[in-house]
Amino acid sequence: MTNPLYDQMLGRHAGSAAVFLHLPDGRQVSYADFLGRVAQFAGAVRAQGIAPGDRVAIQVGKSADALALIFGCIQAGVVFLPLNTGYTADEMSYFVENSGARLLVCAPEAEAALGPVAEACGAQILTLGGAGEGSLAQVADAQAQSFDTEPRAPEDIAAFLYTSGTTGRSKGAMLSQNNLLSNALTLVDLWRFTDKDVLLHALPIFHTHGLFVATNVILAAGASMVFFDKLDPEALIDWMPRATSLMGVPTFYTRLLDTARFDTAATASMRLFISGSAPLLAETHLRFEERTGHRILERYGMTETNMNTSNPYEGERRAGTVGLPLPGVEVKVCGPDGAEVPRGEIGVLEVRGPNVFQGYWQMPEKTAEELRADGFFITGDLAQQAEDGYVTIVGRNKDLIISGGFNIYPKELESLLDDMPGVLESAVIGVPHPDFGETPVGVLVPKPDETPDLEAIAGLVAEKLARFKHPRKLVLIDALPRNTMGKVQKNALRASYQGLFA
Ligand code: ATP
Ligand code: MG
Repeated sequence: MTNPLYDQMLGRHAGSAAVFLHLPDGRQVSYADFLGRVAQFAGAVRAQGIAPGDRVAIQVGKSADALALIFGCIQAGVVFLPLNTGYTADEMSYFVENSGARLLVCAPEAEAALGPVAEACGAQILTLGGAGEGSLAQVADAQAQSFDTEPRAPEDIAAFLYTSGTTGRSKGAMLSQNNLLSNALTLVDLWRFTDKDVLLHALPIFHTHGLFVATNVILAAGASMVFFDKLDPEALIDWMPRATSLMGVPTFYTRLLDTARFDTAATASMRLFISGSAPLLAETHLRFEERTGHRILERYGMTETNMNTSNPYEGERRAGTVGLPLPGVEVKVCGPDGAEVPRGEIGVLEVRGPNVFQGYWQMPEKTAEELRADGFFITGDLAQQAEDGYVTIVGRNKDLIISGGFNIYPKELESLLDDMPGVLESAVIGVPHPDFGETPVGVLVPKPDETPDLEAIAGLVAEKLARFKHPRKLVLIDALPRNTMGKVQKNALRASYQGLFA
């Protein structure tokens, strides 16, 4: 093996006529065709003077070519950073600068806005469109369909994946070849993927979920995927009879449940529904089972580690939990001093394993704060582990509310508020308060065409919770601010309500 990630994901499919991608318009891309295109992009990147270890920043729409560019970088030994297509030119300048990218690949229509960003950072800029157009696609068209794979060691960095920026500035997690490869192989096994599988892929490919979980699992299994450029529940349902599996964020599942024709018959050929990236409400899990007979398999991971825990394939998929540590991954729940807390108690989740990243690029202090010398990574998520090992994520450490010296876990209040009459969902945040330091505020989204009675709800909450936990104020909002991965943006909520008690 000379380039373990390339060899195991792609090299072993050389010459295979099996389908890798089903495009929604009915076209298919075989493994052999895909490998040819990957080689052309590896050649194109090399032709631009990009050397092994150099960085390439990629902000392009989802397409077969975009995926081929990413794997072309792997074949050429180039470090790639896939970036959220929603980032503005201002935001992009941080990523291009921070990563020291030598090449920025963007959509043709973004070139005018991003040209100055690339120039300021001394990077080249080339374009790639969804339909085979763009200046980089042209360079690729002229390259051979084979490429001398660049040798890489398992510990060499394959990608910088920037975190979602939910709790602060995005950090570039350095992921090695083996971080990615080991996780993909573990998941194929655990979730029983084979070359017979057809995955419905409607996630973005700039995030760990769509790229390193979904795509790598499919490649490692030699399976195929239907490659949608966005989530359209009707299209998913149309394709379901020809598919076996779906990976989605919780919003996928609520959107499917909102679709009347989604039922047992629609899901008859499916063997597996997987959820992650944000908490799946236990209620969604139960409604899904009632409607389809399938129990969603929830798992938990993050940019820095890929996947850490998963509910079992066989065995109990416990609603509201993220299941058990993956084989080879150790987890522990710790207090602020880093000592393990007794089973069942809440603490910060730490993880160690071959999946854990190599540190944050150019952020030695952040790396030292979050990555212990013994290899445990401090996830920043609060969790609780049951006697039998099942892990429940309680929220983020940074969202913990400390009011008058008492800890308040937003999730406890949110679970209660979600069940109140007329409430669709809720988020509880800590807001500065002159007497208590911080105090909880409940932000409620009404069910369609209903107006929750805030006073009555406050009364019901008061009956169930100790006084120090009572939300000092309840407010109504049309929808919670979420990012593309369905994560609630509590920073944005805190900013909106920070003056409430000032
Ligand atoms: P940043 O680190 O920049 O603040 P982020 O943590 O949102 O952003 P990601 O790495 O995309 O960036 O997300 C990982 C986080 O997503 C986890 O730390 C956890 O809080 C959350 N998460 C992922 N899967 C689940 C799940 N199944 N249940 C609850 N939370 C989840
Ligand atoms: Mg994070």
